Amino acid sequence: MWFSKPVDEVLDAFHVDQAHGLSSADARERMTKYGENKLKGKPEKSLAALFFSQLKDMLIYVLLGAAVITLVIGDYSDAIIILIVVLLNAIIGVVQEFKAEKAIEALQKLSVPRALVRRDGEVREIDSREIVPGDLVILDAGRLIPADLRLTESANLQVEESALTGESVPSEKKARDIYDDPKTPLGDQSNMAFMSTLATYGRGEGVAVATGMNTEIGKIAQVLDADDEDLTPLQKRLAALGKMLGYIAIAICAVIFVVALIQRRDLFEMFLTAISLAVAAIPEGLPAIVAIVLALGVTRMSRIHAIVKRLPAVETLGSVTIICSDKTGTLTRNRMTVVHTYVSGKFADVPEKGQAECDTQDMKELIRTFVLCSDATYESGEGTGDPTEVALVVLGEKYRIQKKKLATINERVAEKPFDSDRKLMSTLNKENGGFRVHTKGAIDSIMKIADSVRIEGKVVPLTEEIKADILRAAETMSDQALRVLGAAYKETEQILQPDEMEKGLTVLGLVGMMDPPRTEVKNAIQKAKNAGITCVMITGDHQRTAAAIAGELGIASSPEQAISGSEMDAVADEAFNEKVNHYRVFARVSPEHKVKIVRAFQSNGNIVSMTGDGVNDAPSLKRADIGVAMGITGTDVSKGASDMILTDDNFTTIVAAIEEGRNIYANIRKTVVFLLSCNLGEIVAIFASVLFFWPVPLMPTQILWINLITDTLPALALGVDPGDPEIMRRPPRSADEGFFAGGVAFRAILGGTLIGVLTLCAFYFGLNEHGYGLWSKNIPENTLTYAETMAFVVLAVSQLFYSLAMRHSLQSIFRIGLFSNRYLAGAIALGMLLQYAVISIPVLSGAFHVQMLTMSDWLVVIGLSLVPLAVSECVKAVMRMAFEKR
Ligand code: ADP
Ligand code: MG
Repeated sequence: MWFSKPVDEVLDAFHVDQAHGLSSADARERMTKYGENKLKGKPEKSLAALFFSQLKDMLIYVLLGAAVITLVIGDYSDAIIILIVVLLNAIIGVVQEFKAEKAIEALQKLSVPRALVRRDGEVREIDSREIVPGDLVILDAGRLIPADLRLTESANLQVEESALTGESVPSEKKARDIYDDPKTPLGDQSNMAFMSTLATYGRGEGVAVATGMNTEIGKIAQVLDADDEDLTPLQKRLAALGKMLGYIAIAICAVIFVVALIQRRDLFEMFLTAISLAVAAIPEGLPAIVAIVLALGVTRMSRIHAIVKRLPAVETLGSVTIICSDKTGTLTRNRMTVVHTYVSGKFADVPEKGQAECDTQDMKELIRTFVLCSDATYESGEGTGDPTEVALVVLGEKYRIQKKKLATINERVAEKPFDSDRKLMSTLNKENGGFRVHTKGAIDSIMKIADSVRIEGKVVPLTEEIKADILRAAETMSDQALRVLGAAYKETEQILQPDEMEKGLTVLGLVGMMDPPRTEVKNAIQKAKNAGITCVMITGDHQRTAAAIAGELGIASSPEQAISGSEMDAVADEAFNEKVNHYRVFARVSPEHKVKIVRAFQSNGNIVSMTGDGVNDAPSLKRADIGVAMGITGTDVSKGASDMILTDDNFTTIVAAIEEGRNIYANIRKTVVFLLSCNLGEIVAIFASVLFFWPVPLMPTQILWINLITDTLPALALGVDPGDPEIMRRPPRSADEGFFAGGVAFRAILGGTLIGVLTLCAFYFGLNEHGYGLWSKNIPENTLTYAETMAFVVLAVSQLFYSLAMRHSLQSIFRIGLFSNRYLAGAIALGMLLQYAVISIPVLSGAFHVQMLTMSDWLVVIGLSLVPLAVSECVKAVMRMAFEKR
């Protein structure tokens, strides 16, 4: 039991040196022996299983039943066609589901957490799957524990173990504890850290004692494999719609059957007609197509650096009205450089490059404190760690105060880590036989815990006057959009508890660091504005710094639009809700304020997206409609709580993701409306002919065929329609707007009815050519087949053409470009080719009961097929004119 052994023994057992870690060769060898450090998910569905799951569908049973009946009565060609359709449907379904699943899987791989390990004597960040037993793993606040670890070091380390123990209060970890009782429960093993739990505070290091399925969580992983299907609200609504259409189809079938009985039609014929009508009416391909359109969209988004963790987020993205963004790193580059220092009442510039000398001892002390009170490292020109701290270590390098050297002489013995509530960090280091507390942080926070100040080598009381001077200096730097950090210290004889450190300090001075805004952000903010989205800055930084940058970026236009966390505290929630729309900059806020901000915006009917990176950001990320975590600087905790991860930490990506989200929703809508119009066309044609005692213009197998060529490729091609360049010039879609709002239902009904009526027209035209009418009795078989062929072609081709009308609800198709969606153009061409093949290849035409048409009739059917598209274009033109008049 590792928790009952001292650290040295554990390290020996794994043949690893604490300072050096494993060698790369060692790690490779262990990888082959122990395998990847990952929990096995649910077993993958095999292709065969996927295939058979496609057949578990009411509709398929009906079709198979029909196939059996046709076989029994000896209509072999119909039976074969039905079976082929069933088979093809299943195959298409499998391919779609497979693709969708793979896309989602690939995305999940992208969000595998990274881990810090010590190997070959240096700290490296690796994929947590590459950890092997014996690896020395470094932990800091916000990180997911990547394997089971026996801790070798801990500094105020706290771990939240609810994933394992159900206990949500973080437990304190101490590397030095040892438990003799072999039955010590997991929750009490304070010298261990377990895979899948979260470090919420402090730092630590541990040696991996178990990886993958050998870990404690691995032993119970099977329990966690419950497969949770994550349907989006739209998918749920569409499923309900599908069900409703199913019932309608059954009702229509029943009506047809009864009418046919009354009319004394051929019952078997009518039975098949009813079945094929059901096939036509039920949009059985719809869920699969929506799923794959979503999956493809999400894959596209990952290419523009936005990883969507939950599919429903795609839809919500399209309705976002407020983007709340962190400043540092998201709006700015997070490449901090110290440009000014302020000591003893004097500013000094820091040279951009090269070495410099400290003018005074005070300045040297200031820089020493900043360097010692940092966790960042700087080696051979590379900084690692928090950019703010890297900047400070780099500052030290410039003044020949090297962190590496200093840290060995003035060894750190205790610390109180930075958190964004206190906005302070302190360390206790050895100093001349005694100790010294080094504190750095926001200058207002420093002022609260300091009672003296060092001026020209002397420690003097911190009077109100000096305070005012320092604050003024800080403001001067803030107004230049600089991030200001203060430093303070105190001497002590003995080791202090963390709680004792931050009081009675002596202020040393300030530094101002530059963090230039990302150049592309300004355009993105303008783009969001055009799209009716408001951008808001939220930062822990000083109000003036924040306001200065917000002004540069076009987020705020006046200083009154900025409010600080303490001002927010002074207003009651309701009053704040009313005023919140007025503000664009929230400065000096802590994570709890973020929740208040999200709530306030939501109470005004906004759909809010909120960014976050720290451990404490989890509540606001969860509370926001779209929680956005930072991929590079974000903690695993924030990633876990988010809906979307930005792999480039860039604000611009949020706006791009919203645009994608809007386009994906629009495309799903196009697909659904298209499928419904097609189905409606088929229903209208058949239902009308039955009701009016006409011969039925379509054979059941023909309907199955048409569904096969229109419901698959063209529908899918519409789902990947190129984005509408105008989409970011429109206001966000209201979140409670129905799917059929804004004339969508009208378009489906108009198109469907037209397609149905034109099919009947073609049928009539065919009969009429041979001197018969719709009500004629004893129409010769040949004539009927000819007229049916015309109806068959019109039904198929008009649907193919009508798909073009779906591409935009207002713009003319010529404006958008007939070929700008190559997939759709290809799908239409292929559909027409197949349609022609069915008619012209004798084996097929025999099976489908169709004939070759004459040249002039081809012209007629093509002309009729163009009508729905043409009418829809006219309607759009009229609508455009109406819009322009307004
Ligand atoms: P943001 O990321 O929005 O700028 P933070 O919460 O990171 O806000 O920082 C808030 C304030 O805390 C900063 O303005 C700075 O004064 C202080 N601060 C930031 N990082 C550190 C750190 N590593 N150590 C001490 N103080 C810090
Ligand atoms: Mg920060």
